[in-house]
Amino acid sequence: MRGDVHIHVEPKHEKKCMETLERAGFKYSVLQEDIQRGIDTEWQSISRHAGSRDYTQTYLDLNGIDDFLSTLEAEVPQRLERFNLGGTTAEGRQIWAVKVSTDLNGSGKKAVWIECGTHAREFITISTCLETANNVTCKIIWWFGVVAQKATAMLDLYDYYIVPVHNPDGYDYAYWVSRLWRKNRRQNNGICLGVDLNRNWNANFGGSGSSGQSCSDTYRGNSALSEPETAALNAAIQTTNNVAFISIHSYSQYILLPWGYQSSKPSDYNTLLRIARSAEAELESYYNTAYLVGTPPDILYVASGGAYDHMKLNNGIKYSFTYELRPGSGSSWGFELRKTRLLLQLKRHLPRFGNLQKRSMQMITPQAESRKIKKDKMTRTTER
Ligand SMILES: [Zn+2]
Repeated sequence: MRGDVHIHVEPKHEKKCMETLERAGFKYSVLQEDIQRGIDTEWQSISRHAGSRDYTQTYLDLNGIDDFLSTLEAEVPQRLERFNLGGTTAEGRQIWAVKVSTDLNGSGKKAVWIECGTHAREFITISTCLETANNVTCKIIWWFGVVAQKATAMLDLYDYYIVPVHNPDGYDYAYWVSRLWRKNRRQNNGICLGVDLNRNWNANFGGSGSSGQSCSDTYRGNSALSEPETAALNAAIQTTNNVAFISIHSYSQYILLPWGYQSSKPSDYNTLLRIARSAEAELESYYNTAYLVGTPPDILYVASGGAYDHMKLNNGIKYSFTYELRPGSGSSWGFELRKTRLLLQLKRHLPRFGNLQKRSMQMITPQAESRKIKKDKMTRTTER
């Protein structure tokens, strides 16, 4: 284990936790005295915007997201179509995705897949995907046309497949009941609910960094791709001709490269590293927000069964990355954002994320290549 670890502790365990840390010789500091207060503040903001369809002002619930995507599809039917990944979740929901293309009937272009909302509590990732879908269609012109122009260039090169809420059951539960819920809502033999979808992929499934205990936040499930969410996304991705897979998570400000499940590097690691560093430099140049680039074992810890490893290993997607969005690992706030910070976060990163994609993807065109709640009662380490 490297770097910082954030731990949520119930008040009744606070004293014992600190004593244990001190006895073991760990240095620690209290980042946030009362996480619930931040959650309450966020909820007040969400409540004030109830019924809103503006993802830049608030976190939308599932109905709001559905409405937003339907409206977007109606506004730019020549560019964007909504489709169902297939199957249904444990609670009977469908998983919606959008395809954005200059030729929806088959452009022959390679596909870039972007996945958000796998971990229920990472609300900002969902806003990220909505923003990306909105921008890449060129529906709106922001910043004097800059975004629209970039988006056109992005669509000239690739088709985009965006999955805003990969884990709708978990998101609905985190939104309305328990803000820091992470997993899906699978019934696990009647004890604890939920499988961590980002430990359920077929990349050293069952290995380090995942748990076989159903009550764990990193419970991997019974078998690789056992969950409707992972199975559906995998099946859908296998129908397209892919160039890149980008998995969006929060938080910590990392750009993670394969492999997550082992310390050794893929043979094309230097190429991936060059692209990621270029992307990071572009991101940092806008608002001086540095992202750490590297593999999970180098930066954090080994994590088996992750999506981006699976996509590279089993679906042959060469350019497979994971983003951990803001805030940074030293921040006193994490999954929950205050209203004022939501728009700030979107403005600071998401349109630039479009640029980032463009820059990164340009680098991997064939030519370039040939050249060379409410209250979370669990006490546990925060897994991102
Ligand atoms: Zn995550």
